[in-house]
Amino acid sequence: MCWGDLVSGRPSWLVTGIGELVADPDLAPLTDAALVVEAGRVAWVGPASSAPATDEATDVGGRAVIPGFVDSHSHLVFAGERSAEFAARMAGQSYAAGGIRTTVAATRAASDEQLTAHVARHVGEMRRQGTTTVEIKSGYGLSLADEARSLAVARQFTEHTTFLGAHVVPAEYADDPAGYVDLVTGPMLAAAAPHARWIDAFCEVGAFDVDQARTVLEAGARAGLSGRLHANQLTAGGGVQLACELGLIAVDHCTYLGTADVDALASSGTIATLLPGVEFSTRHPYPNAKELLAAGVRIAIASDCNPGSCYTSSMPFCLALAVREMGLTPAQALRAATRGGAEALGLSDVGHLEVGAKAHLVVLDAPSYVHLAYRPGVPLVAEVLG
Ligand SMILES: [Zn+2]
Repeated sequence: MCWGDLVSGRPSWLVTGIGELVADPDLAPLTDAALVVEAGRVAWVGPASSAPATDEATDVGGRAVIPGFVDSHSHLVFAGERSAEFAARMAGQSYAAGGIRTTVAATRAASDEQLTAHVARHVGEMRRQGTTTVEIKSGYGLSLADEARSLAVARQFTEHTTFLGAHVVPAEYADDPAGYVDLVTGPMLAAAAPHARWIDAFCEVGAFDVDQARTVLEAGARAGLSGRLHANQLTAGGGVQLACELGLIAVDHCTYLGTADVDALASSGTIATLLPGVEFSTRHPYPNAKELLAAGVRIAIASDCNPGSCYTSSMPFCLALAVREMGLTPAQALRAATRGGAEALGLSDVGHLEVGAKAHLVVLDAPSYVHLAYRPGVPLVAEVLG
């Protein structure tokens, strides 16, 4: 049968001949394994030799099977592109938060149909690289109507949508940032909340300070949105500690961390979502994920796909960077890109392939998941289900 045919309600289906199966990303993979899918969920996992009888079967010929990636941080609702800015940066210019305004102008000028087609293209790109769950933020509209429609567009592709009206202060509020925070926490939040599950802010020099970010997150909580935060991307500010103090599920970037930040992360349980594509694309130093794990910090890896600081949609690329540049083992990086991402979105039935999980399977054209880091840049994702 065709992989694409497998949807809820199909008969039981055996995937066998799995050379290496990552069912639980916290444990060693199973070899010579099989897996049964029923009604879109994993119903059985074990040695191929003791697999139960099923209605249908597919032999994957010794290839590796992993859970679909969970990309818990992306900014896909935008128009235009900023390759000239990237080229300038690679020629020595530094990255600043203000470049976001270029994309805001293009996004506001785009039609709903253009934005929708743009997101569809990027979600398709992600899927072909093994991502089966994605979070999408607004944040390039920055007006009431443009933030609300950005989230409505995102909602067509995922239920994991995040209101990021506090991305930067738009040009028309340059002289009145307090007025913009009032807009974000008042009428804009009211318009965005029906389309969003999360609220986020960019806590950084040139964007929003700790007090402004706190105001935004607290207003979001009152409107029923859970918080997450962009913090410590360009400077070691107070964003990470704010996220930990507020008990947020995740704080994202964590590029510049002091000892107090690491201690706060370890004791709060707030997940540090690492975005190695950003360090790659901005030539900033990578955070040391190995040390974070040793300190007891929970981590996830995500793409941060966006047109400014990191325009990759590839979780395999981010995973390879995390291994090479952040000190993770291939097993730790895969765990962070699957179950870690799921935890950062509060999800328990994706990011692994244990019994009961959604059957989000990725078949690799490789005998082991280690090839994701061992063969960077090679299109190893052969089949994606779910
Ligand atoms: Zn981001």
